[in-house]
Amino acid sequence: MRFVDLSSQQRRIGKDLKSRLRAVLDHGQYIMGPEVAQLEERLAEYTGAPHAIACASGTDALLMALMALGVGPGDAVFTTPFTFVATAEVIALLRAVPVFVDIEPKTFNMDPGRLRHAVTTLQERRDSIHPMPRRIDWETLTPRGIVAVDLFGIPAEYEKIAAIARENNLFLVEDAAQSFGASREGRKACALAPIACTSFFPSKPLGCYGDGGMCFTTDKAMADLLVSIRVHGQGADKYQNVRIGINGRLDTLQAAVLLSKLRIFPDELEMRGKVASRYHDLIQHFHAPVDPPSVPEGCTSAWAQYSVLARSDKERSVLRARLHEAGVPTAVYYPTPLHLQAAFAYLGYQKGDFPVSEDCAAKIFSLPMHPYLTEAEQIHVIRNLAEGS
Ligand SMILES: *Cc1c(COP(=O)(O)O)cnc(C)c1O
Repeated sequence: MRFVDLSSQQRRIGKDLKSRLRAVLDHGQYIMGPEVAQLEERLAEYTGAPHAIACASGTDALLMALMALGVGPGDAVFTTPFTFVATAEVIALLRAVPVFVDIEPKTFNMDPGRLRHAVTTLQERRDSIHPMPRRIDWETLTPRGIVAVDLFGIPAEYEKIAAIARENNLFLVEDAAQSFGASREGRKACALAPIACTSFFPSKPLGCYGDGGMCFTTDKAMADLLVSIRVHGQGADKYQNVRIGINGRLDTLQAAVLLSKLRIFPDELEMRGKVASRYHDLIQHFHAPVDPPSVPEGCTSAWAQYSVLARSDKERSVLRARLHEAGVPTAVYYPTPLHLQAAFAYLGYQKGDFPVSEDCAAKIFSLPMHPYLTEAEQIHVIRNLAEGS
C-alpha cells in the first residue's frame, strides 16, 4: 500500500500530460512560457482570488509575500509552532521574529483566543498571559502580521483571525500549502486572506513533478510587487532592478503538469472526501483507539493528510509498528513543534510553552491518504489499527 499514490493519477492523465509536455518541448519557452500565465489565470478563477502569481515553491511563495509586505528586522510575526518549518523559516530569514501561538486541539490550527493574548502581550509589553521568546528583546518588537496555516487541509478560523488583524493593523497571510481546494463559509482556500500562498510539492493535494508554488492576492498593487520580486526585483524591463528580489519563477514544464492535473482535480478532491469519510466510519465501526480528525461546520478539507491522535506517545509507537507489520505506511507530521527545534533555539522558547502543540506532536500520526485508496485497503488499515485494543 502506498502513503500517496501518484502513479494511478499519472495513468489517468497520461495522454493529456504527454501532449502538454510535448508542446513545451516544441515551443521551447522553458522559463515563463505561455503555460505559466495560463495556469495563473485558471487558478485565480478556481480559487476566486483576483490575482495569482506562480513561483518556484511554497516556501518562495511565503518568502515573496513577506518581502512584499516589507517584513524585516524588528518585526514580530505571529504563527503556529505546529506546522512545516517553512512557515516560520521565512520569517526568520527576513530577520523578523516568529512569535508562536498555540493551536486548537481539534483542528490543529491557530487558536484565535491565544492569538489575541499574544498580540496584547506585545502591545502592553507584559508577558504574564502569553509565553514570549526569552532570548529576544521582544519588548522592542513591532507587531506586524499573522501567518495562519490551514494544517492538513482544514482552513484556519479566518473570521476571528481577520478581526484581530484588522483591530490591530496587522497583515494576514494564509499558508494554504496543504489546503488548495478546501473551503470555508463558501469561499475557497487561497482566497481566505488578502494574501495566500500554496505549494505544488508532488504530495500536496495539487502537486507537480518537482517544486512549485503560487501566491494569491486581492490587491493589484501587491500582485505587481510580487511579480517584480519573483524576478530579481525587476522594474519596467528585466535589466532594471528597482528592489531586492529573488529568482522565484515556476518552470514552464511544471505549469504544464499542473494544467493537466487540474482537469481531474475537482474529481480527485471529491474522491479524497469519500476516502476521509470512509476512514471516519471505519474507525467508529471497528472501535479503533484513535481520535479521527473533525472538520468544523461550514468547512471542507482538501485532505492533504488524514491525521489521527493516539492516546499516548507510547500507544502511537505500538499502533504504527502494527500497521508497518501489516504493510501499511504511516507518517508523523510533525514530531517536534517548531519552538523546540534546534534551528529556533536562539529564540529561547521552552518545553511547556505551547502545551497543545506539544501534546499533538506526541500523539499524532497520518494514515495513507490519496484519491485512489480502495475500500478494501481502508478496511485493512483500520482493522489492523483496531486489532488487539
Ligand atoms: C509544504 C509546505 C510549505 C512549503 O512548501 P514547499 O513547496 O515544499 O516549499 C509551507 N507550509 C506548509 C504548511 C507546507 O505544508
